[in-house]
Amino acid sequence: MPFFLSKNNFLERLITIMSETIVLTGDRPTGPLHIGHYFGSLINRRELAKQHRTFIMLADVQALTDNWDNPQKVRDNVYEVLADNLALGLDLDNVTLYIQSQIPQIAELTVFFSNLVTINRLKRNPTVKAEIEQKSEKFGEDGVSLTYGFLGYPVSQAADILSLQSNLIPVGEDQLPMIEQTREIATKFNRIYGEVFELPKELLSTGSRIIGLDGNAKMSKSLNNCIYLRDSAEETIKKLIKAKTDSIEGISYNPEFRPEVSNLVKLYALCSEQSIEAVLPELESMRTGDFKMKLAESMNDYFAEFRAKRAEIFADKAYLQEVLEKGKREALERAEQTMQKVRQAMKIDY
Ligand code: ATP
Ligand code: MG
Repeated sequence: MPFFLSKNNFLERLITIMSETIVLTGDRPTGPLHIGHYFGSLINRRELAKQHRTFIMLADVQALTDNWDNPQKVRDNVYEVLADNLALGLDLDNVTLYIQSQIPQIAELTVFFSNLVTINRLKRNPTVKAEIEQKSEKFGEDGVSLTYGFLGYPVSQAADILSLQSNLIPVGEDQLPMIEQTREIATKFNRIYGEVFELPKELLSTGSRIIGLDGNAKMSKSLNNCIYLRDSAEETIKKLIKAKTDSIEGISYNPEFRPEVSNLVKLYALCSEQSIEAVLPELESMRTGDFKMKLAESMNDYFAEFRAKRAEIFADKAYLQEVLEKGKREALERAEQTMQKVRQAMKIDY
């Protein structure tokens, strides 16, 4: 039947053509999200979600690859990270928030993909390589205690992306090798079993990198050097007073020579929604302690509304559950559609 005869079919096609871009992004529930996530990825996520159909995955299965011995932490943080995302004010008609482990099709696809990746290729993945070194307390010196699950998490990431047939993946620089590996797997799959997958593209982050309050190169939930989005105004003041700085007089912006102070200047600019050049003149002659108080005030103003909303959402467990139920339904439906094509292509559709 020509499609113009069926109005519904026509509309369906039109919608498919118009909403071609499917964004997949997400967070590892290893801790509540912090202001580094906010300025580095969440603000961009909110803008992207206004333009495209967006899936946000709470990556509990991935979090377990280096937290298998702490399941309660992962479970608790699923709800923290969910509330952090919901407080952004996402339009849930257009955004699906779901828990990775609730979509068994991802695990199924991971198994099939694992045949298409060599162990040597996984060991060469620069991100995984660096992480194995950083996590030596878990995986031993030189990775002697490296697990199959952690080495293989890029395979499971390929399944996250391709199970939903998502094609635009916002990433930081460190995640580029993962997208590369996903494209390799999709290409190999298509060559062996037939065209099923579109190759996904990355959208490289333009967000700001925020260093830790302890001066570490990255504010990170594993390093306990963060201002969390759920922190109160008082906690923020306390943390900023203790933040590492240097003994140079006055405030200036020079990330190479004064990384800690420059990071605080950057945060001040972000929270007062001005450029670094614009804020510098008013800060230059300030004493560090006074500057920290000024920053705390500006940060507390900036996040006041977000925090209030987040607290309200986090307290409403029935609402959180409702969002997760809806997300599960939507992600399951899409993943199952993909798996039917995959099983058919692989001749296992008995
Ligand atoms: P974990 O310790 O579990 O690895 P993390 O705090 O390092 O947690 P991730 O979940 O690894 O956070 O980060 C996910 C994404 O969030 C990064 O790819 C990056 O885009 C953004 N992000 C995280 N930390 C920062 C930061 N300090 N500054 C800017 N962006 C950040
Ligand atoms: Mg990390």
